[in-house]
Amino acid sequence: MSNAVVFNPLPQLGRFLNLCGPTPLVPVQLTRDAPLVWCKLEFLNPSGSTKDRIARYMLEKAWRTGELCEGGTVVEASSGSTSIALALTCAQMGLRFVAVMPEGVSQERVLMIRAYGAEIILVSRESSIRGAIDTAERYAKQHGALHTRQFENPDNAEAHRLWTGQEILSQIPHGMVHAVVSGVGTGGTIVGLHHAFAQAGCPTIPVAARPVRIGGGGAHTEIECCSFSTRVPGVVDGISKLYTHAALPGLRELDIDEEAALQTTRALIRKGFPVGPSTGLNFCAAEQIARELGAGAQVVTVFADRMERYFSTELFSH
Ligand code: PMP
Repeated sequence: MSNAVVFNPLPQLGRFLNLCGPTPLVPVQLTRDAPLVWCKLEFLNPSGSTKDRIARYMLEKAWRTGELCEGGTVVEASSGSTSIALALTCAQMGLRFVAVMPEGVSQERVLMIRAYGAEIILVSRESSIRGAIDTAERYAKQHGALHTRQFENPDNAEAHRLWTGQEILSQIPHGMVHAVVSGVGTGGTIVGLHHAFAQAGCPTIPVAARPVRIGGGGAHTEIECCSFSTRVPGVVDGISKLYTHAALPGLRELDIDEEAALQTTRALIRKGFPVGPSTGLNFCAAEQIARELGAGAQVVTVFADRMERYFSTELFSH
């Protein structure tokens, strides 16, 4: 499998961590008339999301360069999947992990992070993810902890360029990707995957899926920050320093009705993919691009995380 296993797990890492990737890439067609989309099943990673890749990549690198060693502490601002993934990776590497997050995040996520032995610092709901980032930065300075800075750390995108992206190229027919579609939080997924495909010579269009509220319903708070709703957690606007037009030549941004994203998530669950709302968002946008590009176009998207962390949310209360 080409470069898919560019990492040799450090001897210090637990054996279960080695189960991170490769994940299947499967063609999915929701109805007979719908277009086909190539979907990377990242929810099958050990902590249940694609963030296992970046957690492992960033921490392995810090370990190799001596920034981290046994017993060290890692801190990150994240209200979602990255904290869960870092909590698991740290537990397996013998590191302490401190997750900084705004009050009001779902209980499922808090319980998962604690289950992996990590600590949680809550900042006020009003200070949102920006406040969490500032607090993580202060904590790192005061306690000599490593702040992984997912929103600006180039290793976040590198994990996807060198790892997830290479897997996809080795799995998709003819190693050809015509478009790659993802919602943007840190921007690591879309930037890393697009670079992998472009460097392999594919004429790939990068497509960012943006949730917008067309109908009513759904609480709009500042927990996940900024202009995007909380109905599609993980996809946040205006925070990433990795997601730039310069990093993504030919970028298209596609507005998706968040109600359609939730409906699509439910349809995917019934098809046998136990995914969360950002996956429904990704899939809706990917279907739209695949329809536009026509038969024969190979459109890739990511099934980012698992449904269990959303049991208490609107996804399951319809
Ligand atoms: N989906 C989920 C569930 C996420 O947690 C995130 C990241 N916070 C994304 C999508 C967006 O991915 P990225 O951060 O790589 O842009």
